[in-house]
Amino acid sequence: MVSSFAELGLSEPTLKAVTELGYEEPTPIQAQTIQLMLEGVDVIAQAQTGTGKTAAFALPIIEKLDPKVRATQALVLTPTRELAVQVAEAFQSYSKYHRVSVLPVYGGQPIERQLRALERGVQVVVGTPGRILDHIRRKTLQLAPVRTVILDEADEMLNMGFIEDIETILKETSETRQTALFSATMPAPIAALARRYMHDAKRITVAAEQKTVSQIRQIYYEVGKRDKLEVLTRILDYETPTAAIVFCRTKLEVDSLGQRLTARAFAAETLHGDLNQVQRDRVMARFRSGQMELLIATDVAARGLDVEHVSHVINYDLPLELESYVHRIGRTGRAGRSGTAISLVTPRERRLWDAIQRTTSGSIQRMRLPTIGDVITRRRERFKETLRETIAEQGLEPYVIMAEELGEEYSPTDLAAAAFKLLLGAAPDETEDKLAEPDEPEKSGAKRPPKRRKDDNRMGPEHGMTRLYIDVGREEGVRPGDIVGAIANEADIPGRSIGSIEIYDHFSLVDVPSNQAQQVINALKATRIRNHKITVTLAKAEKGQNRKKR
Ligand code: AMP
Repeated sequence: MVSSFAELGLSEPTLKAVTELGYEEPTPIQAQTIQLMLEGVDVIAQAQTGTGKTAAFALPIIEKLDPKVRATQALVLTPTRELAVQVAEAFQSYSKYHRVSVLPVYGGQPIERQLRALERGVQVVVGTPGRILDHIRRKTLQLAPVRTVILDEADEMLNMGFIEDIETILKETSETRQTALFSATMPAPIAALARRYMHDAKRITVAAEQKTVSQIRQIYYEVGKRDKLEVLTRILDYETPTAAIVFCRTKLEVDSLGQRLTARAFAAETLHGDLNQVQRDRVMARFRSGQMELLIATDVAARGLDVEHVSHVINYDLPLELESYVHRIGRTGRAGRSGTAISLVTPRERRLWDAIQRTTSGSIQRMRLPTIGDVITRRRERFKETLRETIAEQGLEPYVIMAEELGEEYSPTDLAAAAFKLLLGAAPDETEDKLAEPDEPEKSGAKRPPKRRKDDNRMGPEHGMTRLYIDVGREEGVRPGDIVGAIANEADIPGRSIGSIEIYDHFSLVDVPSNQAQQVINALKATRIRNHKITVTLAKAEKGQNRKKR
């Protein structure tokens, strides 16, 4: 397989942008996709978010754009506005040394702003199917000049009820276009779509073999992207690794994490492709001898690294290649020792994480983040252990005299407590715990209302949910996917937070999180479902009468 970006046939400006982002080598999906896309071949790629799929399609698109043409040359369809923005930002960073105009187009943003930009001419449009269709109908977006269409997270678009919109959009584009489809799974309707609208498509999968890692304790934490550093330092405080390798995706992230950990008084050093052999050897010698506890590294830099006493491997960033997970964690638990592998998983990486979990035969346990209180308790337990060992080792004579002298003034308990205070430092303030998870069921033992089946809608919405009334239903052709799609897309609420949906002859009921109900009502004001203008209100109990269910 191709092992460097330079071998992929990318131009200097693109290589420069990628290098500056700290990417050391193409991920498998990039190595397999980029050349094909440069050649103009249709591609069906089975890959999760987090495997580098955005660059896999964005880099060839940027390479192939005609800079002199202002018209829209590439169209990327995404399931959510969040992803549309993310992809548009990625295009911007990858095209740092090209002049490329990119516009994210999604519901919920004032359409006027999009209209002005589209009028000026946009070379790459990234958007959700509903809003793209809207622009096509208004004739504010011409798709005839589009040469490449990307269907990103196609299975998610299917789940959200966008499949017909996608077909309508594809029909608006030229027959000679190049189409690439990216999807974590390949459900039948997606495969059928590919058959109908793609030509001689090459299939690419990034699957991984299963490996056994029985002697390693594997755990993971679900964390918000912004909390990652705080979570990592909390875990380090709790686990107190003797020697840990912390993996990041890029050189830049390695450097930045190294600096931030050093600033927090961790003995951390970094290892990545920019170090020469002498520097690398020095870092490794310090790590081997125990002079530092944390080695922050990229996959490439850690390749071939063999250190016996690594107590922890921490996936600060999940690996971009499924196989890498097993390779990474195999750096601990060497020579029959026990080891711990810890992964931080952000919400967007859920599916990638599911795929990674399937590559290992061992079970990976989700853990609740330790609280400050847990860290203190753990530290005190360790301290007591060390005290016992010190007493057992003897050699306390010089200190015994000091203890006896002070023992005439104070009680032994007060004396010991004062010494512990000095040694352990002031206890951190537990009320300042920014990462506390108060409603974690395992910990609080709080009684939750009994879980109801998703389709059991008779008793009113679940705790914390509010029921909304939408004045279109079965007779208007509405299906659950349409409602999920509209809410997710227009109000930017993930599909999984939407509760039960019931569709009646001329209206529908949907449960949404109470704190977002007003947001949904506002966002859906100017929206159409199945081309019907809709009105959304809070559902009243009496609206439930005379229901005639499908
Ligand atoms: P994606 O799957 O496109 O969402 O990418 C996941 C993450 O990996 C993003 O943060 C990218 O910036 C990063 N990334 C993509 N390609 C590479 C690469 N070749 N090396 C290192 N990081 C990468």
